[in-house]
Amino acid sequence: MKLLLVLLVVLFGVWLWRSRRLDGKRARPTPPSPPAPAAIVACDVCGVHLPQADALTSATGVYCSHAHRQQAQR
Ligand SMILES: [Zn+2]
Repeated sequence: MKLLLVLLVVLFGVWLWRSRRLDGKRARPTPPSPPAPAAIVACDVCGVHLPQADALTSATGVYCSHAHRQQAQR
């Protein structure tokens, strides 16, 4: 009878250890994926490199600022 009680306690301990280990795996958040690299363009006047989203594009080229776009159109 005493052996059965020890066996039940051991089985309960193993069950508790496994359930906590599985909960830890489920609760771990997945790291966010890094953002995609932005396309980089160069200003046609000064040559500075900047993200394409920040650049001013026109039919004549790509510029870093309104001043350089006006300078190129003269
Ligand atoms: Zn420029």
